[in-house]
Amino acid sequence: MSTGKIGVTTENIFPVIKKFLYSDHEIFLRELVSNAIDATQKLRTLSSFGEFKGELGEMNVKVSVDKEAGTLTVSDHGIGMDASDIEKYINQIAFSGAEEFLAKYKDTANSIIGHFGLGFYSAFMVSKKVVIRSLSYKEDAKAVEWSCDGSPEYEMKEIEKEGRGTDVILYLDDDSKEFLEQARIDTLLKKYCRFLPVPVISGKEQEWKDGKYVDTDKDRVINATEPLWTKKPSDLKDEDYLRFYHELMPGNEDPMFWIHLNVDYPFNLTGILYFPKIKSNIDIQKNRIQLYCNQVYVTDQVEGVVPEFMTLMQGVIDSPDIPLNVSRSYLQADQQVKKISSYISKKVAEKLDKMFKDDRKAFESKWDDIKIFIEYGMLTDEKFYEASKKFFLLKDVEGAYFTLEEYRKLIEAEQTDKDNTVIYLYATDKAEQYTYIKDAQDLGYSVLLMDGQLDPHLVSMLESKIEKTRFVRVDSDIAERLIVKSDSKEAGLSPEQTDMMSTLFRTQIPEIEKTNFIVTFAQLSAEASPATITQNEFMRRMKEMAAMQPGAAFYGEMPDSYELVVNTAQPAVKKIIELASDALSAEVTPIRSEIETLNKEIEDARKAASDKKEQAPDLSEKESKVADLRKREEDIIRTYAAAQPNVKQIIDLALLQSNLLKGEKLNEFIRRSVSLLS
Ligand code: ADP
Repeated sequence: MSTGKIGVTTENIFPVIKKFLYSDHEIFLRELVSNAIDATQKLRTLSSFGEFKGELGEMNVKVSVDKEAGTLTVSDHGIGMDASDIEKYINQIAFSGAEEFLAKYKDTANSIIGHFGLGFYSAFMVSKKVVIRSLSYKEDAKAVEWSCDGSPEYEMKEIEKEGRGTDVILYLDDDSKEFLEQARIDTLLKKYCRFLPVPVISGKEQEWKDGKYVDTDKDRVINATEPLWTKKPSDLKDEDYLRFYHELMPGNEDPMFWIHLNVDYPFNLTGILYFPKIKSNIDIQKNRIQLYCNQVYVTDQVEGVVPEFMTLMQGVIDSPDIPLNVSRSYLQADQQVKKISSYISKKVAEKLDKMFKDDRKAFESKWDDIKIFIEYGMLTDEKFYEASKKFFLLKDVEGAYFTLEEYRKLIEAEQTDKDNTVIYLYATDKAEQYTYIKDAQDLGYSVLLMDGQLDPHLVSMLESKIEKTRFVRVDSDIAERLIVKSDSKEAGLSPEQTDMMSTLFRTQIPEIEKTNFIVTFAQLSAEASPATITQNEFMRRMKEMAAMQPGAAFYGEMPDSYELVVNTAQPAVKKIIELASDALSAEVTPIRSEIETLNKEIEDARKAASDKKEQAPDLSEKESKVADLRKREEDIIRTYAAAQPNVKQIIDLALLQSNLLKGEKLNEFIRRSVSLLS
């Protein structure tokens, strides 16, 4: 028997391990099972090269608990270790780096432990004593037992051991007794060892007997040793992919499609990415891609490793080339990882392009479901945007799909405005914006449907990427003004009339909470609606964008401003204008001229003062007189308008068209309509 000191640079590395890595101490099992798998694989390799000539025998790894002894044992039939191996691999571990690492990452140790291969020594996170019993595969090797109680001293002695391989026996700490529960072990093995390449045995198969499950004497294999991603895509059928998907994501609906990644140059990477159907925001759950390293589960926190937009996908990625024993921030900055990320992005774009080219109809039928992935990708990944320009589709309100290029060709002739900008008209809700859509279509325009969660962002992006392009929502102006082809026609009203009529209409617009209206006039066709409500594209977008920012409650509170555009060519409107001018002129004209006179006096006084660089005289009396007169004028018009059901009727029709007439106001409108019938 020999004793000695483990070659770590600090006396108390074990307390450090325990303390800092406490919350994630379950990973010890992954580390020990991985070592056992490695040892098994190494022996297989030696055997295949003829360097090991003995019988391989049963090649599995076993995890067993002994409640009475308080031990957890991981056994393998791999290459084993002799005394010199233990000296080399276990005693002389290069822990200098580890100490530095722990000092540096003290505060974040918990979050990075998953990426930090503590290896064999992680056993001390849960054990008061660890024993290794091992027999090397080498001819005439002597079995050895190594034990260590967590101090830097160890003992090593020769023993009798039947059978090649290694048992690592953990004498569990009092506060780690949970690992004596088979159920806890099962959960961990399912998490970390599900797809390991060597059978991992733990516990027994169970059967239903006398009303409960009981153990049989058959060993239970925890893992699938050849998970789907390790197989050749050409050997697999759709059913295989679907079955695997449901194993990974139990309880989920079938995915729309998947991509099998299989690369060996310039790095090794395999994996399967599934595109789930996303119906609402709630479905957007990240962390659904699991990262493996040679079939050992590492993490499902893959930000930085896969392109951001792919965090919406589900599946597995396996790469021995992703450096796992480092912190996440390091991982994200790693050049190799960046390459992998952009490679995956490229592959996904290629696959989508192929689907589009091979069967456009089928691609279109999936489009509504996959567009969120593609838009997310385009918005967050420049290269993906470039690659996806070929297969990105725009859908019009009739349900026809166009590539960006096709659509531009389609609308260019009809929808170019006087400044040579091509106007893409869109609707966000077919039912609500029905009249606006129809009005635009009647003018020969095409209208897109942009009702996706990311569409507002996409619209801004396309405007910035495609030259001379502007997106305009159909209800942001009356159809005739959506695409301004020449300088607009006059509304055909004198300034006084405009003033009077806008007061006439404005005073009759019902009060709607958090909503402002301005009234304007346009001379449209006689058949067009008497009035239309529009919402300025720019203002609406500002508000929408602001509302999407976190902490933007303030903007959400901002009132909506709408424009009531009155069509002066429409016969009913014409009549209202004529009647109002006749009825109001006598009373309103003298007031107006008085206002004008006063305003002129005020203006002249100001000008004279400023010419002389003097302070302006006190004009408040005149100003308040103007205000009074204005109020009187408004009262006269308001009283007149109140007795004109047609004015209200025209306004309400416009409100109704844009879904703004609700509740009591809707009821009033209906009653008024009925009374107008008689
Ligand atoms: P790593 O696995 O990252 O190299 P470890 O501390 O886990 O670090 O293990 C150190 C070395 O000890 C391994 O590389 C291997 O050579 C040896 N070893 C550990 N466990 C076993 C085992 N079950 N069988 C054979 N050798 C082992």
